[in-house]
Amino acid sequence: MRLPQLLLVAGLAARPLAAQANAERIANDRYTRSHDYDLIHQRIEVGNFNWDSTSFDGRVTTTLVARRAGLDSVILDAGAKLVLKSVTAGRAAGATLRTSRHGDTLVVYLAKPIGFGDTARFTIAYHGVVESGHGLTYINPEGRPHRPRQIWSQGEDHDNHYWFPTYDFPNDKMTWEVVATVPKGMNAVSNGRLVSDVVGQGGARTVDWLQDKPSATYLVSLIVAPLAKVHDTWRGVPVDYYVYHEDSALARPLYRVTPDMIDMYSRLTGVNYPWAKYAQTTVADFFGGMENVSATTLVDWLPGRRDYQDRPWYLWILIPHELSHQWFGDYVTTENWANMWLNEGFAEFMPGQYWLHKQGARAEEDYYLDEYSQFMQIDHDQRMPLAAMGSNNIYPKGALVLEMLKHYLGEQRFWASVHRYLTDHAFDNATTDDMRQAVLDATGENLDWFWDQWIYQAGYPEFVVSAKYDSSAQTVTVVVQQTQQDSSKADSTGLRYTTPQVFRMPVDIRVGTATGDITARGELARRQDTVVVRGVKSTPTMVVFDDGNGILKRLTFEQPTAWLATQLDRDPNLWNRQWVIEQLSQRKGDTAAVAALARAATKAEYFLTRAAAVGVVAELPVLQSAMKDTSAQVRAAAVEALGSLSGAAAQVAPLARDAWLHDSSDAVRAAAVTTLALSDSASRRAVILEALRTTSYRDAIQIGAYRAIVRSADTTLVDTVDARAGEQRFALHALAAMAGRGSSHALDLLTKRLDDERGYVRRWAVEAFRFSLPRDVAQPRLQAISATLKFTDTRQAVADLLQQWR
Ligand SMILES: [Zn+2]
Repeated sequence: MRLPQLLLVAGLAARPLAAQANAERIANDRYTRSHDYDLIHQRIEVGNFNWDSTSFDGRVTTTLVARRAGLDSVILDAGAKLVLKSVTAGRAAGATLRTSRHGDTLVVYLAKPIGFGDTARFTIAYHGVVESGHGLTYINPEGRPHRPRQIWSQGEDHDNHYWFPTYDFPNDKMTWEVVATVPKGMNAVSNGRLVSDVVGQGGARTVDWLQDKPSATYLVSLIVAPLAKVHDTWRGVPVDYYVYHEDSALARPLYRVTPDMIDMYSRLTGVNYPWAKYAQTTVADFFGGMENVSATTLVDWLPGRRDYQDRPWYLWILIPHELSHQWFGDYVTTENWANMWLNEGFAEFMPGQYWLHKQGARAEEDYYLDEYSQFMQIDHDQRMPLAAMGSNNIYPKGALVLEMLKHYLGEQRFWASVHRYLTDHAFDNATTDDMRQAVLDATGENLDWFWDQWIYQAGYPEFVVSAKYDSSAQTVTVVVQQTQQDSSKADSTGLRYTTPQVFRMPVDIRVGTATGDITARGELARRQDTVVVRGVKSTPTMVVFDDGNGILKRLTFEQPTAWLATQLDRDPNLWNRQWVIEQLSQRKGDTAAVAALARAATKAEYFLTRAAAVGVVAELPVLQSAMKDTSAQVRAAAVEALGSLSGAAAQVAPLARDAWLHDSSDAVRAAAVTTLALSDSASRRAVILEALRTTSYRDAIQIGAYRAIVRSADTTLVDTVDARAGEQRFALHALAAMAGRGSSHALDLLTKRLDDERGYVRRWAVEAFRFSLPRDVAQPRLQAISATLKFTDTRQAVADLLQQWR
């Protein structure tokens, strides 16, 4: 959303902002929880796991130190469903201690009050019952492939107390030991170093893991599953990959990058990887990854050999993101969840730094370009600051603000600041202001204004720029207006997030001429600023505002096509090029614009620029040439663009068929299925059926087929789609999409799947009703059948959904 404001008061002074920032910071401090003891260590013993009753037996010995005189009771978080057997003083078998329970709170009364700084120790034995998905998730195979029986824990934010009594908040670090006894054929992976691994009677296995350096309790982790271990090392530190046995051949090609990433992060931060080992373990039905300290949990979507050309998210983001949390989140941890961007912003930022150092500046810009589009979408939906409780943009905006900070400070001062932040708060907690302090201590520069506008306040500058050349004065005068509006409304509690009227930042301007470039730096500090570039001896060939893309922004800058074309040819920065492509794509009848885009589509040296230009150029010869590109992403963009080429169906179908039959990339083939099915109705059915039979990484090709079915609105394929309901959740989403386009048969079949004998199919069906069917179709149908549903779990899920929609 852009709100151009035409009448601006030039020279309006930046308003003082400190009051607002300070208020926001104090408000964030308020989210830190108080308690009157210091957790030192927990020994967590678990066994007797039962998948039918989602239960186990547990015994937890807690050691803590009193933080007040006369501490007579200890308040712990403990799930209400944990059934206490005994609570005794000491390690075990001591005197029984009195307890009381209030919902998810357990109070342990000590035998006698202890003094400030004194130590208490007690042991809680219990029968653990969990609601699967809360603290622990129990997975049964349900007859599906690639899905061994397993259990995984998930603590963040406040879920670990559902499986063991603890202090479930990030601001009290402890060491711990997890001793798990698991059934024959299974393994148990947890945090820290392996103490022992013993197979006992009947094949039951007891694995003892010791996390001997302190970290936060939400990072306590346990995975129980039949797992193969693939071993690696970094400077003698074990680096292990635990995957299903059937995946063992896929593990090393994917994870072997890990030691190099550990090395890179250690060098960049100046803090060596701090933990006794690094394990990455795959589990089923996981949302992505979780940075449990020294024992990351990851989803089980391992790419195969041919999938690497499509740059799998798993390798590009997931592995380096979770790894960087071992420093940012696990070593230094946010003090409360209102400062969570310190964890997630850094973790989202760091992969871009890894790729910068491995693949160069374009790869770095490529990485943050994606963050930029995510952030713009999120900010458009709801504008929030980074450092706020429940902030919606901590990942992309966190990454972008840190990248901007690095650009502002320069590499050396930036990494010195990061080093300071990590070492000042090692094995401890931090707030947003601690990071500002670290920059101040490392560089001498107080960035309170930067923190205020980018971290404590919301939004970003929306620049409207104009440039004028004066040949007699040999100057280019650049007028920069900031047009962002502070228009957010207060919520029901009166809390309102502000957007700065003025973002203060230095900006670089580059003017191209026939005899070379001239650059100038301006300081933006007002609603309207003017930057004069001097010594421009000949007519400019281009004017680049924010050379190097140092500011997170939106830009409106009307200029001649010739300038844009020159910039597209010459500007190395990917954000800038992407912006130029967007400008040129709006100049439809302009042959110079089309020629510039065609040149970029075939000749730009980085694939992302070629792919972006291909997407807007809509010229058959350009697309034909792009289909021979070495980059799969460019070929996929070309095949996709072919589909929208009007009046060329005769040429489109053979090209799409060729890509479908012969391309080595599944992403290209998936795009080809859709384009081919839509451009050649005679072969549509055969192509779609063949695509549905073709397996591919994360079902890319089958999804292409479902997309083709939905977009062609071919209702003769509804039964075919329904027949695949047990194999892919997308089949149910396709049914829902077709129902949404008016197919009553699709709606009936989807409704029937709510009574499917297989629980996971029923869950997928509910999900399809919720996400892929317009509510005005879904709601009346669910209301009509909710009372007749066969299975209680589905009845409950449908009732919950209807309640939510009410
Ligand atoms: Zn993360």
